[in-house]
Amino acid sequence: MKRTFAALLVFTLNLSPIAHGQQPAEKLPFNPPTTISGYQNAAAELQAEKAFLAVPSAELAKEHLRILTSAPHVAGSPEDKKTAEYVLQKYKEAGLDAYIQEYKIWMNTPAEIKVDVVAPEGVMMHGPTREHVSDDPYQDDLRVLTAYNAFSPSGDVTADVIYANYGRPEDFKKLKELGVEAKGKIAIVRYGANFRGVKPFVASEYGCVGVIIYSDPWDDGYYKGDKYPKGPWRPDTAVQRGSVQYLFRYPGDPTTPGIASVPDLPDSKRTPLDQVTDLTKIPTTPLSYADASPILANLGGPESPREWQGALPFTYHVGAGPVKVHMLLKQNYQWTTIYDVIGMVKGSEFPQQWVITGNHRDAWVYGAVDPNSGTAAQLEAVHGLGELLKTGWKPKRTIVFASWDAEEEGLIGSTEFAEQHADELRQAVAYFNMDVAVAGPDFGASSVPSLKQYLREISKAVPSPKGGSVYEQWKATTEKRDKEKAKSTQAGAASREPVVVTKQDVRVGDLGSGSDYTPFLQHLGVPSADIGSSGPYGVYHSVFDNFAWFTKFGDPTFAYEQQMARVYGLDTIRMASEDVLPFNYEDYGKEIGEYVKAADQKSKETFGAKSPSFANAQKAASRLEKAGAQMLLTQSGMKGNTARVNQALRDTERAFLIDGLPDRPWFKHSIYAPGKYTGYAAVVIPGVNEAIDASDSALTLEQLKVLTDALNRAAETLEKGM
Ligand SMILES: [Zn+2]
Repeated sequence: MKRTFAALLVFTLNLSPIAHGQQPAEKLPFNPPTTISGYQNAAAELQAEKAFLAVPSAELAKEHLRILTSAPHVAGSPEDKKTAEYVLQKYKEAGLDAYIQEYKIWMNTPAEIKVDVVAPEGVMMHGPTREHVSDDPYQDDLRVLTAYNAFSPSGDVTADVIYANYGRPEDFKKLKELGVEAKGKIAIVRYGANFRGVKPFVASEYGCVGVIIYSDPWDDGYYKGDKYPKGPWRPDTAVQRGSVQYLFRYPGDPTTPGIASVPDLPDSKRTPLDQVTDLTKIPTTPLSYADASPILANLGGPESPREWQGALPFTYHVGAGPVKVHMLLKQNYQWTTIYDVIGMVKGSEFPQQWVITGNHRDAWVYGAVDPNSGTAAQLEAVHGLGELLKTGWKPKRTIVFASWDAEEEGLIGSTEFAEQHADELRQAVAYFNMDVAVAGPDFGASSVPSLKQYLREISKAVPSPKGGSVYEQWKATTEKRDKEKAKSTQAGAASREPVVVTKQDVRVGDLGSGSDYTPFLQHLGVPSADIGSSGPYGVYHSVFDNFAWFTKFGDPTFAYEQQMARVYGLDTIRMASEDVLPFNYEDYGKEIGEYVKAADQKSKETFGAKSPSFANAQKAASRLEKAGAQMLLTQSGMKGNTARVNQALRDTERAFLIDGLPDRPWFKHSIYAPGKYTGYAAVVIPGVNEAIDASDSALTLEQLKVLTDALNRAAETLEKGM
């Protein structure tokens, strides 16, 4: 990352009391900005914001979280419905016009899951072992489902095992080099490095008949620190559940890409199950490292490459065999009713323009961190909004709060809602997402480039529990991380790094996938953002992500819950009433210019002299940057016809939409998509980059043209608005 020495130095001096925090650090004072851009009457807005910020309560957030996580509440369960009713009641109490929207979804729960070692003789393992530690008040609830991977098929396979590291294409290539045949084998792979649905996708390309995904203690267990209940890291028997849907093809109900699975949708409108393209055909199931250990410890064959070695106490080999495993997965697939909760406050001036603010509510088990730390914070943001409404305040645009269901299975509640309201959403202003609100104290954000500065400004207006503003602490933790060259510890978009850095300021990441902004941004072109707060968190998607873990390690005082409620609410409230929308398209154009430059370089390396010319795409990116810069002058001067300016600012993101990416028409955004082989991380200018990765120069040329046209459309939209 580019970063000048001067910037680093100035910054370090600012933070000296905290950077040398051996002795109790003096708290930075909090000095919120006294000006605000985009408002004719900034004083009135600042007053409303101050009134809002005073409301979200740590104590009430704690109460919401305790109630929401009192029982396991996987999507579609009776307990999940109860949480929907709780959220509905809170939305209504705040004065929102609220309802529950049901959808009918094809999905599975486990009926019977068995993983047994059947050879060699003397090696015993009959899994999965029930998740258990010495002391946890939630682990023995009978409603806890056996750990499973959503959207794995049922299956009954017995085969020799191979170890394939993270299950990436390069890992399977490496196995081939080592002379290890993957065909007909069960691959055991570790979590991490990519979205878990990518693992069976790649394994099936190499002919595997089954996949076991386990959590290596290297990645989030004892290698990181003390395990739960002594510390926050993954204990031996804890399993990471999760979906293995091919969400890089399309998310949502597998039978309705592009249309909403409303309860009365006729079957004739659904894709027949044998024609569905986003589901894996090979049985896949997760294991703890307690259960994976006997399999890995007894593999023969060559030593694994040293980078593949995890933290289990033996040398990892790759097989194949002599360990043979029997996987028996009986999945209970059925039509399942899920429950989104929607709450609206009608805009006083522009009711058709929506500002949408979403968080998912369904959890793999109790979901204290993922996702209900977000739900609790959302409910306190709604509480604040409610108090503001009582004073007679009204937003100019319509505010839509959403509590999504079945995010865990495949962003289902949000995708179906977005598909149902595609027409209305053409006028939407922004989508603000929060999934894991609090796993620890380190704030982070990801968004489209046009919103990055907006998020920084919002974070300056909210105090941090550590003193100073959220912005100052955000900057401090990223600088510290840079100095220590430490990687973020969280599986969440909020701590993702951007592909390029064009500004000497705190870094806001790019949106790939893995949470509910995907349908809004990548299917419909609604400018989107995702925020969260991370920390040492090793119980992701296990039974131990519960209220006991959260109050011990995540946020004992709920001060970060209060902080996130404030940031999330302020994102929404300020955007809803802006006189001139705050989108920065100079930043957007500049970032795209860097993406194009990098792709050009990669293309030259791939195709040599036959590389197509990137000149037109580069020119179009510059044109966008220039139009964005001019537009910023119009925005800050509040000149011109405000309605026309705002219209242009809203339409520019949608101008990036194309008919669809090659092989995955549901994804229509020309700048951001989840990577086909990464799943979570964003691939930028995906049409072009993936054509180069596939060494297809004709497709590269075609996709360059598609991209160039989209960039010119976006630039023209801005030019016409001034
Ligand atoms: Zn989540």
